[in-house]
Amino acid sequence: MTGLTPSGTRPEEFREVVRTAVKPFDAQVTAVWEADRHVPTAAVAELAAQGVLRERWADGDLGGLPKMVVLIQELFRCNGGLALATMGHSEIFIGALTRHGSTPAHARLLEDALSGRAVGCFAATEPQGGASLAAIQCRAVDTGDGWQLTGTKRYISNIGRATHAIVLARADNARAGADLCLFVVPLDAPGVTVDGFFDSSGVQACDVGQLSLDVKLPPDALLGSPGLGLLYASHLLQFERLAICALLLGAAETALGLAAGYARSRPVGSGRLIDKQVIRHRLAEAQADLWNLRSRLDEIVAFAVRERTMPPHQVSGLKLTAGRRVVEIIDMAMQIFGARGNTSAFPLEKLWRDCRIARIGGGTDEVLADVVASYLDRPDRSVDEFISEAVEADRPAPSVARGPVRPAAQSPAAGAYSH
Ligand SMILES: Cc1cc2nc3c(=O)[nH]c(=O)nc-3n(C[C@H](O)[C@H](O)[C@H](O)COP(=O)(O)OP(=O)(O)OC[C@H]3O[C@@H](n4cnc5c(N)ncnc54)[C@H](O)[C@@H]3O)c2cc1C
Repeated sequence: MTGLTPSGTRPEEFREVVRTAVKPFDAQVTAVWEADRHVPTAAVAELAAQGVLRERWADGDLGGLPKMVVLIQELFRCNGGLALATMGHSEIFIGALTRHGSTPAHARLLEDALSGRAVGCFAATEPQGGASLAAIQCRAVDTGDGWQLTGTKRYISNIGRATHAIVLARADNARAGADLCLFVVPLDAPGVTVDGFFDSSGVQACDVGQLSLDVKLPPDALLGSPGLGLLYASHLLQFERLAICALLLGAAETALGLAAGYARSRPVGSGRLIDKQVIRHRLAEAQADLWNLRSRLDEIVAFAVRERTMPPHQVSGLKLTAGRRVVEIIDMAMQIFGARGNTSAFPLEKLWRDCRIARIGGGTDEVLADVVASYLDRPDRSVDEFISEAVEADRPAPSVARGPVRPAAQSPAAGAYSH
């Protein structure tokens, strides 16, 4: 429901648009955000004013994926917090309104979101745990003239500066995970409280806080159909996961470039650090893995654009692999920089902190591994038939009648093994 017209801008042209849009957010500006622990609402509004969000969404949720990759990578190069806040706003909030908005109020809110007048975040995780969304306890009661939402949400990115939250809650007549619903909640509504923020080590410019809800909402606070909230949230999370992969690969490429540069310039004995085979091969293996991960990201994006669908297992698989490998590569880059890698004079320790949390946010490694495992744990007729036949046929061969056993002549070597 964006009402946007398709864009003729190519992703690489869009990269220049994003670079221009983030120019005002230089190191001094983002250092203030990091110290404040908040990305100002005005920063996302400024990106929107530059047309960056409209351009990402002009070709639709799937058609715009190549630009989403460019957008998140360039924002992360500027500041990790800005990338995280924009990711929630764009891929979850705008994504939810685009896919599930159905009323004139939803259309107005979507227009506000694309223009930066509204900034959204995603509230799914709860104090008792976030890995299992099906276990959500936040309660939604249908009051006849709207909804009453009660519950607490935790670790919500950008809750301190967002204007709205997409909230996952359990309808009152809940049956297991099947009755979750997605709501859009204005954060200035009576009964909505931001309780405070958690001091986190990564992406420090984007706050991560707790939200308490005891709020009465109009009927159209519900997005889409009741009971399909888990399905909707899982779908939206695939976009966030792909965005995180884009961000991670950009970060690792930066770290590897710096490490290779440092190894080329650092004298060791009569040569350079990069001349040492142990260093050279570590760098080479990292480069080879990054080329492969980058190809995988490009393939998944191309598949989603072409087939008009996300491949959920593959997206989870890429985030699982990229999350682990990127953190290893940045760690290796820190090692190559020696003590310098641990100081804030170089960007490596910050890259490490900003990327490490990607193995938790947007789906933990364990949750992602379960998604990939569910792909393997499905019937595969040809394999299953082969295994069943092979197991059936797997018997010992009947023994061949042998002549009388005579003692073997002792080989000269045999004694060498006796004790
Ligand atoms: C920087 C950051 C930003 C975040 N932003 C948001 C946000 O905007 N909105 C939001 O809703 N949430 C957000 N989160 C929360 C995030 O989604 C959760 O932290 C994550 O889902 C895990 O939930 P948890 O921390 O409660 O851990 P738990 O659910 O308590 O799990 C703890 C550990 O146990 C593992 N585990 C749990 N169950 C199983 C199982 N069955 N089998 C194997 N292992 C299991 C988990 O994988 C994890 O490693 C953010 C987190 C971070 C770090």
